[in-house]
Amino acid sequence: MSPPVLRFAPSPTGALHLGHALSALLTHDAARARGGRFLLRIEDIDRTRCRPAFEQGIQDDLAWLGLAWERPVRRQSDNFADYRAAARELANLGLLYPCTCTRAEIAGTVAALEETEGPWPRDPDGTPLYPGTCRPHEPVRPDIGLAEAGHHALRLDMRRAAALAGSLSWIEHGDAFYDRASAPVEHIVAEPARWGDVVICRKETPTSYHLSVTVDDALQGITHVTRGRDLYDATAIHRLLQTLLGLPAPNYAHHRLLMNDDGHKLSKTRGDTGLAALRDAGRTPADIRRMVGL
Ligand code: GLU
Repeated sequence: MSPPVLRFAPSPTGALHLGHALSALLTHDAARARGGRFLLRIEDIDRTRCRPAFEQGIQDDLAWLGLAWERPVRRQSDNFADYRAAARELANLGLLYPCTCTRAEIAGTVAALEETEGPWPRDPDGTPLYPGTCRPHEPVRPDIGLAEAGHHALRLDMRRAAALAGSLSWIEHGDAFYDRASAPVEHIVAEPARWGDVVICRKETPTSYHLSVTVDDALQGITHVTRGRDLYDATAIHRLLQTLLGLPAPNYAHHRLLMNDDGHKLSKTRGDTGLAALRDAGRTPADIRRMVGL
């Protein structure tokens, strides 16, 4: 049997903090314990928020922690052609439509709907579902708008997509994956419709987190997706895209998150416990392992 392939996939939008350290260490250790491969992927599709200095900082922090990963590192911004090709396949299935709505317009439409119709449904992250302003009544021509992306986003017609894909599920190992080699499995029913018409290609970049993570996990042969529990619900979208694009389904192991004293997930933007700052303050990699509970 070929060895498992695991990856740590940070976005270089800030310095790594203890939450990232937990994810990277869990993934690395799980790969090593199984004689598997450990890959690093830089998820930098957001060209306005990602910085080369943060990418270098990520590699410095991971090396300091004692992790070693395969080279070359896959950087998403080098691979837009792969995501365009996948978007083209979805468009050929008649599942994408252009959307020119701004966030403010969507919020305004939802507020107006709530006044007349009561509470509008939210996605698992609590964001109101896209109200369908730009959704066409007829299936969209397959050659629709990809060439003009940049002027509009492309959304997935979720109703059609979910109907085409049929029933979906994924294999989940949860936290047990990191404790022992033969983790129990749970079959989770995936309900992508809970997310509504998600954006597949953003206006400013020819892909989205959901599309690129799905394409990359397949292209890199990831066998087990190891990541935080905050992305558990998004897995339904990834299973949908994998199915529509004919890509294999990895297994999933969503792990616990580190919380602040105030009960929030650690975040880069809130200036939580950066690894570089802890290193400068004299902490050692062994201290970091202890601090994240390993
Ligand atoms: N790039 C994502 C993040 O930094 C992780 C994506 C994933 O592991 O699927 O939160």
